[in-house]
This record gives sequence, structure tokens and C-alpha cells, in this order.
Amino acid sequence: MEKIKLLSILLLLVIIFAVGCSKVESQPFSDSSSADTTASIVYFTKEISSDAVQRIYSMIGGELDGKIAIKVHFGEEGNPNFLPAHLIKDLCLDLDATLVETNVLYGGPRSRTESHIALARRHGFDFSPIDILDSEANLAYDHQSKHFSRVYTGSHFPDYDSYLIFSHFKGHGSAGFGGAIKNIAMGLASKEGKRFLHRGNYPIYDESKCIKCNICVKACPESAITIKPVNINHLDCIACGMCISVCPTGVFSQPESENRQEAFLERLVEYAQVLTKERKMVYINVLANISRSCDCVPNAPKPFIGDIGILASTDIVAIEAASHDLIDQEHDCDDTFLKVNSVSGKHQIRYAHELQMGNMNYRLVDID
Ligand code: SF4
Ligand code: SF4
Repeated sequence: MEKIKLLSILLLLVIIFAVGCSKVESQPFSDSSSADTTASIVYFTKEISSDAVQRIYSMIGGELDGKIAIKVHFGEEGNPNFLPAHLIKDLCLDLDATLVETNVLYGGPRSRTESHIALARRHGFDFSPIDILDSEANLAYDHQSKHFSRVYTGSHFPDYDSYLIFSHFKGHGSAGFGGAIKNIAMGLASKEGKRFLHRGNYPIYDESKCIKCNICVKACPESAITIKPVNINHLDCIACGMCISVCPTGVFSQPESENRQEAFLERLVEYAQVLTKERKMVYINVLANISRSCDCVPNAPKPFIGDIGILASTDIVAIEAASHDLIDQEHDCDDTFLKVNSVSGKHQIRYAHELQMGNMNYRLVDID
């Protein structure tokens, strides 16, 4: 009898594990050792250091010329996971590049140019000029697509001939994951653009899970949440996903409508499509400090897996696909961010491929 009980428990555990890890697709985006000559090359090193950033850039950097901008994320005040400044310092100095960002939509130091730059300096980005691209005005590009007729960035965006998109690949409450696509889309959009990107993607909530800890109320940048009962005021909410990231009991989640969730990911991709066409760009993704939450979240949760390495490519779709596949392999899961965030971001990659921004079929070239 005891044996039967034990076997039943083991069987149950196996089923729980299998269900948790096999929700959407069972395939990686590509066979990384692809012999297909049309596959895009993605360079990879396990080393995570300033020297490794320089080495991997040398494989792709010939593409950049003229006045070079490096798009980084300076890290929200209190966030423990953003990429440390020393990783990009030597390369930035070598290229005589400018570090660029845009102001965020919600409150806090990153919402205003002066305090944004002061925060960046406090976080160690004190070795080169910093340009907040929308510090003066908006710049609009007309673009007819599924979700937009116009795309808004900062007026300084065209001041640079080429861009190195230096991205921290990690989870994100609304987008599943944030990598190069999101670093360009949300990261280079002006406040006006960010408003259009977020539009309508309000979290839903399950009151029964609330333990009234007040964390979400303090974290919400727009004071849009009340908890007795739980409610989000849609007139104030900017759909930033912060409440999804911070709630310890999972009260908040993405809207159930798959269309709405997919539309948000598609809007990100369409922004990235326009901006990647306007300027020459190459991509470095760093797979380290991989938390389920993004670098905009103060006190974001600790990383849920170990560091993996650095990737570089001239193909934005290939590098995002390779980054996701490596994390899925490491986590032994088909869609890691669906598991840890209840949001799959894979549609970002599929839609970017559909828009012919790059190739999902890649070949990983180890440079170690
Ligand atoms: S963070 Fe979650 S559990 Fe805490 S008050 Fe907000 S909804 Fe309730
Ligand atoms: S998504 Fe959540 S945290 Fe962000 S503004 Fe709306 S209610 Fe506040």
C-alpha cells in the first residue's frame, strides 16, 4: 500500500513538472548548429567581462561607422540586476561613442533628463557623454502598419549614424522578456511613443489572492491601484506591468485576451522595425543576472538561473531567437518566460521574422 502511495506521488510530480514546462511550443527557434548556409550567424562567448564585450564586438562591429551611439539601460534606482557600467566602458571609450537613452513614462528619476543623467552617473556610467534622445522634443516617422501610422522617438535620434544596441536579456512583466527588440522599441520611443505602445494593455486581477501587503500600491508609478478592494483605475494606469512584477501572490496578470497580449508584442516589434530601418544597428545581448523582472523594477526579484554568456549579431531576429533558446535550454523548459512570468514573449520573435526584420534560423559560433 505504501509503495502504491509513493508511486502515485512520484507520478503526480512528473505530471506537474511536465505541465509546467511544456505549454506552447516544444521546439527551439533553430538548431543552433545549423549547416544551412542561409542561417544568420550569432557569436557567443561564455565569458562575461569588458574584455569579452570587446572581443565579441570585433566580430560584428565593422558594420558601424560615423558617429556611434550605444543604447544601454542605466537601471532603475534600487534595481539590483541591470548590466554594470564597467561591461561597456572600454568599448565605449574605444569607439568614442555616446551612451543614449530616453526618459520613461512613469515617475521617478528616469522620467526627467537631469535626474536621469544623475542616476546614470551614480550607477557608474560616468566615462562618456550621455544623450537623452527625447530631452528636447519628439521626432515622428510616418509608418503605415498593422498598429500604427506614426512612430515617435526623440529628436536627437538622427544625430547618430549608427547604433550599438547593448541589451540585458531578462524577463519582463508585460512582454514576457526584454531583449534587443524591446530595448529599441520602448527604449528609443519618446514618452509620446511609449503611451501608444502601452495603450490598452491594462493588467487584470484576482482579488482572492490578495494578502493586502500594499506592495503594489507603493510600486505603481501612477498611483492607479487601490486594494480594498483591489482595483486599477484605467484613467491613470499606463500599463507598465510593474504591479505584475512586484505582487508576491500573483494577483495581477496580463489581460486574458491573447489578441491583446499579442498586439502589445506586435507594437513593440513595429517600433523596432521602423527605427532599425532608419539607422544602421548591430546587437549585443548579455545573458546575465536573468531575473523574471526588468531593469525598470526597483528591488526586482533575484535571478532565477545562472549567467549564460554574451551574444552578438547583425541580425536582430537571430540574436533574440538564440538568446531565448539558450535560456530555455538552461532552464530545461520550452518557454521559460511563460513559466516564470505567465507571459510568453515568443511572438516578438515570430512577428519580427514575419516582418522580414531577420532570420529565425541561426548558427551559433562559439568564439571562446
Ligand atoms: S502586491 Fe498583491 S498581494 Fe500585495 S496588496 Fe497588492 S495585490 Fe494584494
Ligand atoms: S500596470 Fe500596474 S503598476 Fe503600471 S500603472 Fe497600471 S496599475 Fe500601476
